[in-house]
Amino acid sequence: MKRPIIFFIISFYLLIILPQPVHGAWFEPLKIHVIDVGQADCILVQSPNGKTMLVDSGDEKDGEEIIRYLQKEGVKKIDVLVATHPHHDHIGSMAAVIRAFPVTEIYMPNLPYDTDYYHELFRAINEKNIPVERAKAGVNFRLGFSVKVDMLGPKSSYYRYINDYSAVIKITHGKNSFLLMADAGIDAEKELIQSKKKLRADVIKIGHHGANTGTTEAFLKSVHAKTAIISVGKNNPYHFPSKRVLHRLMNQGMTVYRTDQLGAVIAISDGKTITFKTNGFR
Ligand SMILES: [Zn+2]
Repeated sequence: MKRPIIFFIISFYLLIILPQPVHGAWFEPLKIHVIDVGQADCILVQSPNGKTMLVDSGDEKDGEEIIRYLQKEGVKKIDVLVATHPHHDHIGSMAAVIRAFPVTEIYMPNLPYDTDYYHELFRAINEKNIPVERAKAGVNFRLGFSVKVDMLGPKSSYYRYINDYSAVIKITHGKNSFLLMADAGIDAEKELIQSKKKLRADVIKIGHHGANTGTTEAFLKSVHAKTAIISVGKNNPYHFPSKRVLHRLMNQGMTVYRTDQLGAVIAISDGKTITFKTNGFR
């Protein structure tokens, strides 16, 4: 008679103990930080169990700032680094970030680019021997247990504009979803609408800093997000975000968060609801 009781006690303890992840963090939120890097992009994704993805790394001058931000947020290692496309405002400081943190793997679209900062990025990748994977539609992986990452773009291997090669990333956490557009424009948006897959999201990081080269009404209707985040520099020479884009967002009844007005914008998801926090200016 003793055995069944012992088995019962052991299985009861296993049931209680085993589901607890190493960091005791199942109930911690997913955090997506759209970091204020001026007229550039840098997005930090922290999964509930401590996995980290960094999407882009700001402009050439942003390295120290980004490294400080990541350290402040307790980042010790970057599990997935994404160079959405090879423009300077997305990969300008990526070599510095790679030299500051261990990086497990890097995703980037197949688009060699003959610039100093692109060559510097590859020098850093080679120094640390980091595997490079191709960013393209269909790539998917998990960031820890509860966070799903799907690349919806780029779908094609050739585009007229470099921005359309952007890795478009959808992040799903329970009922909540986030769409990161990088600098994808109208051609990429058309393809995404045609594919009719998984476009709906609660929050969208608007493409190309709010330029009128994208964020069409048709696209916004397909995504049907309630909240928009725009990563954009104060008084930037391009006059981003475009008034027409802001108008479209307003017409869809969306709430808009802008890094030029609020500093870093942080979306916090518990799998059911999303709350927003801003970090003030750098
Ligand atoms: Zn850009």
